[in-house]
Amino acid sequence: MIPIIDSKRQYAQVGSEVEKEVLEVLRSGSYILGKHNKAFEQEISEFLGVKNAVTLNSGTDALHLALRALDIGEGDEVITVAFTFVATTEAIGIVGAKPVFVDIDPDTFNMDVKQIESKITPKTKAILPVHLYGQPCDMDVIMDIAKRHNLFVIEDACQAIGAEYKGKKVGTFGDIGCFSFYPTKNLGTMGDGGLAVTNSEYLKNRMVALRNHGGAVRYYHDEIGVNSRLDEVQAAILRVKLNYINEWNKKRREHAAFYNELFKDVKDVETPKELDNTYCVYHQYTVKVPNRDEVHKLLQENGVGAMIYYPVPLHLQKVHAHLGFKEGLLPHTEENTKLVLSLPMFAEITEEEQKTVAKTLIECIEKAKNKVSA
Ligand SMILES: *Cc1c(COP(=O)(O)O)cnc(C)c1O
Repeated sequence: MIPIIDSKRQYAQVGSEVEKEVLEVLRSGSYILGKHNKAFEQEISEFLGVKNAVTLNSGTDALHLALRALDIGEGDEVITVAFTFVATTEAIGIVGAKPVFVDIDPDTFNMDVKQIESKITPKTKAILPVHLYGQPCDMDVIMDIAKRHNLFVIEDACQAIGAEYKGKKVGTFGDIGCFSFYPTKNLGTMGDGGLAVTNSEYLKNRMVALRNHGGAVRYYHDEIGVNSRLDEVQAAILRVKLNYINEWNKKRREHAAFYNELFKDVKDVETPKELDNTYCVYHQYTVKVPNRDEVHKLLQENGVGAMIYYPVPLHLQKVHAHLGFKEGLLPHTEENTKLVLSLPMFAEITEEEQKTVAKTLIECIEKAKNKVSA
């Protein structure tokens, strides 16, 4: 079986360093928001090129607290996409605001920036682009629209740590950038973890307070916050792994290029495209194939762990049913939901495995065709 991701192989590389650091934390008696959190906030700010970083419990909390820090809530609208993980719109729902969807550009799977302005109303407070699969959104256009209409920008960069748009890291363009350290992310920890980054001192302070029960001074509380502190074990692990993220992202890009090469002459496999002047970090390597569901099933049966991200677009999920979105609202989103298939992608995958994935995929596409026409 070739898995879509194999975290054990990464552990083989970093395990001994991680174990040493974790053991030290366990013996230190300091377990929450201690020296490793402080150091990691500093180190990741430098890595991203942003003034402030706030460690949190998850990427979902980063999105939630970003919205809270910008005072977005009841009666407000946030423009985003439905072709993403549920956490993006869940966070909007948690604060009581309403997601307003634009369709995706089928070439990049990201927000179709040409549609944003038509969705702006007097209630619109922010644009929330998602750098899906590690592919940067068209940030020049998004920032220009935000500036002209006086809107905030919150970037969901949970799948895109280290990705760049015109030489600048994604997550650092908008007012706040959100990251996840869920174990399978490009920079993953060994539990849950998240991060919000901002160049604003004010927004940093708001999020620092919000993550710890809404108060900057212990036992003095200014507003309703949450408990979203990152523990020292996770911060220590992240500090070790941050040293490898450039190498891992580079390898993912090499693997993506090799897949592209393997599928070069295969008509039925549409390979991912990159915008000019971007550095994609291939959280997923996602192709489009005919008879996708059948192909997916056959791949599983033949030892290739492909996945569908995501099978149901968010505007058609039960969680948002009360907002009354109908099928047909987002044609490209709906169509691509039925075509996409993410193939095994992680820094440690071998060329041999990639060749097997490609060969098996091509065979499964043929088999699926015969099955469907039979
Ligand atoms: C993973 C992810 C999140 C949420 O991150 P968690 O740390 O799992 O809460 C949000 N948005 C996107 C696009 C993600 O991939």
